[in-house]
Amino acid sequence: MSFSVRNFSLRTKLIIGLLVTTLMSTALVGSIAYIRLTEKFDDLVMQEAVRRFRADVSDYFRAYGSWEAAHKQESFRTFSQRRHALLGHVPGELGMGRLDPPRGPVLPGMTPDSLAMAPLPPDHLPPPADMQGPPFRFYLFDNDFHALLPLPPYKVGEKVRPEDVKRLSPIESEGRIVAHFLPQGKPNYSALDLGYIAAMREALIISIVAGVFLTLIFGIGMAAHLNRRLRKLTRAVKAMGQGELGKQVTVEANDEVGILATAFNRMSKDLERQYRELQDSKDRIEKMAIQLRELSIRDALTGLYNRRYFDENCARLFQHAVRYQRPFSIMLADIDHFKKINDTFSHAMGDEVLRRIGEILSSKTRATDLVARYGGEEFVIAFPEASLQQAEEICEALRQRIEAYPWHEVHPDLKVTISIGLSSDVRVKTFNAMLEAADTLLYRAKHGGRNRVCSSDTAEGLFQDGS
Ligand code: GH3
Ligand code: MG
Ligand code: MG
Repeated sequence: MSFSVRNFSLRTKLIIGLLVTTLMSTALVGSIAYIRLTEKFDDLVMQEAVRRFRADVSDYFRAYGSWEAAHKQESFRTFSQRRHALLGHVPGELGMGRLDPPRGPVLPGMTPDSLAMAPLPPDHLPPPADMQGPPFRFYLFDNDFHALLPLPPYKVGEKVRPEDVKRLSPIESEGRIVAHFLPQGKPNYSALDLGYIAAMREALIISIVAGVFLTLIFGIGMAAHLNRRLRKLTRAVKAMGQGELGKQVTVEANDEVGILATAFNRMSKDLERQYRELQDSKDRIEKMAIQLRELSIRDALTGLYNRRYFDENCARLFQHAVRYQRPFSIMLADIDHFKKINDTFSHAMGDEVLRRIGEILSSKTRATDLVARYGGEEFVIAFPEASLQQAEEICEALRQRIEAYPWHEVHPDLKVTISIGLSSDVRVKTFNAMLEAADTLLYRAKHGGRNRVCSSDTAEGLFQDGS
C-alpha cells in the first residue's frame, strides 16, 4: 500500500489536524504576546530612563543654580551617580526592576545644598560601560542648543545637528527650561527585567507544551470516540453489502454521525422490507410459472397430460427404447358411441364420463407410463419397458375395469366401454408411425365390434394385407 494521506484513518487525520492547529495557534499567540510584551517593556524602561535623566538634570541645576556653577563643583556624571546612590538605585539598572520613591523635593529631608555636599558611598562604583548591550545615553544641550556633555559625535559646546533638532525634548527646573535632551540607543534591561522576560518566555513555552499535550489527550480521546462510532457504522454498511439485511446501529447523538446512523437504519429497514416483498413476489411468480406450465401441459377437463406434452415426451421415450433396444408400446383408446352418451344424457354427463375414464387410466397405470388425453374422447398411453404381451394385459385390464365400472352411480342407464388399438413394434422410424399403427388397430377394434383390445397380435395379417 502506497504512503498517502488518503490512506490514513480518520483518527490519525483528526489528531494530525488538531496538533498542527494547536501548534500553529499557540506559536502565533505566543510570538505576538512575546513581541508585544518586550515592546511594552522597552517603552516602560525608556520612560523610566527619561524620567530619571530629567530628574538628574533638574536637580543638578537646582543644586548649583547653573550648569557652569555646577560643573565647577562636580561633573554631572558624579552628581547623578551620587544622587542615585542616595536614592537607593542599583547602578546600571533602569527598567521596571525598581521604582523611585514618589517625587517631592529633591530628596525627602534633603535640600539641594545638602545633596550637593553629600559624599558618594565608597562602594558605589559606576557600572562598566559594556555591561549590557550597546551604549544607551542622553545628549544634553543648553538653551542655545550647544552640547553640554562630551558624548560622541558631539563635543562640549558643539551646536546641535539639524537632524537632531526635531527630536529634542526640554528639561525644566524650578519652572523654567534649563536644558534640552535627546535619547540615543535602546535602554538596557536590568537583571530583574531580564528575569521577567525569561520567566515570560518560559511561561509561554510551558503553555505551548501544555496546549499540545492537552490537545493530544483530548484529540486522541475525541478521535477514538468518533472512530468507534464510525467503525460501528462502517461494519454495519459492510455487513449490508454482504447481504446481511435489516442491520441496525445505535444512534448515540444528533450529530452528523447520528444523522448517518439514522439514515442507515431507515435504509436498512426499507431494503429488508423491499427484499422481502421481492422475495414474496418471486415466490408468487415461480408458483404461477409452475401453474402456467401445468396448465400448458395438462388437459383442463381430465387433468391428464395433453397431446402436445405427450408428443414431446413420447418422442424421447421412443428414442430411448430404440437406442437401447428396450420393449415399448403405445395404445390408443376411444370411447364407444360417445356421441350417443352426449346426446342421450347431456354434454355435462359426457364430460363426467371423460373425467372418470381419465381417473381410471391414470390410477391403473405405472408412474412411468405416459397417460394423456389425445383429443375429444380419445386417450393415449405410452408404456416404456412393456412388451406387447405385457401391454396387452394392461390394456385388457383397463378395458375390463371401464366396462365393469359402476356407471349406474353416475346415471342408472349409463354404460361405457372403450376400444383400444395397441402397437409394440418399435422397428418403425418414429413414434408417430407407432401411433398410426395403433390408430389403425383401434379402427379394427371398432369394426370388430367395439369394447375390445386390438393389437398386432390379435390383428394377424393386418399389416400383410395392407387393410
Ligand atoms: P365410435 O364408437 O365410433 O367412436 O362413435 P363415437 O360416437 O364415440 O364417435 P364420434 O366421432 O361420432 O363422436 C365423438 C363425440 O365426442 C363427438 C363429440 O361431440 C364428442 N366429444 C368430443 N369432445 C368432447 C368433450 O370434451 N366433451 C363431451 N361431452 N363430448 C365430446
Ligand atoms: Mg373418436
Ligand atoms: Mg368414440
